[in-house]
Amino acid sequence: MTKDININLSKKLTSSLSENYANIVDIISSYSKEFGAKVYIIGGAIRDLLLEKPIYDIDFVVEGNAIEFCHLLEARGIAKIVQTTEDFGTAKIEFNNIKLRIDLASTRTEEYPKPAHLPVVKKIGCSLKEDILRRDFSVNSLAMSLSPNNFGELIDYTNGLEDIENKKLRVLHEKSFIDDPTRIIRGLRFIHKLGFELEPKTKLLQQKYLNDFNNQDICYERIKQVTNLAFSLNSSELYDDFIREKIYKLLTTTPRQTDGKAIHTAIQKYSNLVSKENIWLIYLANLITSTDAEKLNLSSKETEIISYLDELLANLPYLKNNFEIYKFFKPIPYETIVAYLGNTKDASAEKYLEKLKDTKPLLNGNDLKKLGFTQGTIIGEALNIILEQKINGKISSMNDEILLAKDILRKKNTNN
Ligand code: ATP
Repeated sequence: MTKDININLSKKLTSSLSENYANIVDIISSYSKEFGAKVYIIGGAIRDLLLEKPIYDIDFVVEGNAIEFCHLLEARGIAKIVQTTEDFGTAKIEFNNIKLRIDLASTRTEEYPKPAHLPVVKKIGCSLKEDILRRDFSVNSLAMSLSPNNFGELIDYTNGLEDIENKKLRVLHEKSFIDDPTRIIRGLRFIHKLGFELEPKTKLLQQKYLNDFNNQDICYERIKQVTNLAFSLNSSELYDDFIREKIYKLLTTTPRQTDGKAIHTAIQKYSNLVSKENIWLIYLANLITSTDAEKLNLSSKETEIISYLDELLANLPYLKNNFEIYKFFKPIPYETIVAYLGNTKDASAEKYLEKLKDTKPLLNGNDLKKLGFTQGTIIGEALNIILEQKINGKISSMNDEILLAKDILRKKNTNN
């Protein structure tokens, strides 16, 4: 349904865009008139504009063929086409003197040959309305005209504006989650990022989908991507919802850890040891085992983080002194140890991260050579013994290390 809302966003837009984007919008707007094309900003950028949130990324859509539009811009010397994807009707372009590449998409319809698998493009160059109706939520289905005669006009075929005002996430049709269950995880991210909630019918559709979900064949390519974005918010409440609302069923039959707060607390405590890009893996490792992870096509580093946790949770051996703790945890990625602490309180893991992990002898190989050591292996062995004694608190000062080194050397020499 389109309501005669007559809202014009041009003022809001001008005040929220970066200079680069503002210039690009101006250029596209004026050439759309000249080329007789209809171009719109669509999706998340309009949602964020209405919510008065910063806009980092703009999706442009041409009602018709975006690649042809870009060829016309290029022919005029206005922009250069960097890449085109004919199958999707999209083009990446770069404007002269503007250091920002943008994507222009053609309006398109899609269909799902198999539920929960990637869609295929059905028609390129459909009407704007048809393009809008393939989208996930009404709040992501708003468009704004860039045509000079109605620049800034809001186009709302799905009641998205009202849903934004009421902070409701509403799918556009009953089969939405069946077609694409990644929308459930996208929705969860919007709930926690933007403070939205599912409107009642959408909530029922989601519950029904998840209740009926029984490990069936789905495409994991996008599940991985949306889970990464969701868990990267580092929100314990989001993780708790993932469990409570049974969204975990899309990835595993049994979550390992159900308490988001415990994971979040461990991440905060050891935030200096974990890069921002890997935070999502600490939640993921607490959710799934490495057997579940096989479906996700993770990188070897990502898989390693999860499979080490399998081992830690299965059997942490008795570690009788600090050096054993050090040796045991040394090869394990910090992300795994933090994930482990988000699952289980373990004093030895805490001790490793807080006290032991950076311990090194004060002496180095050159110092040992000066003391008379010759062979590389003996130097390595000696440094290891010094480290062991230091970590176990048997020695502490430089002088202790020198005495120990001399003692090791003397014993070696008398043995030979
Ligand atoms: P954010 O910037 O927070 O990621 P966004 O809505 O811009 O939000 P994108 O992933 O860039 O997120 O998606 C752009 C637009 O594409 C969305 O606003 C929505 O209209 C549409 N879209 C994205 N994913 C889907 C999906 N799984 N099903 C249908 N439409 C989608």
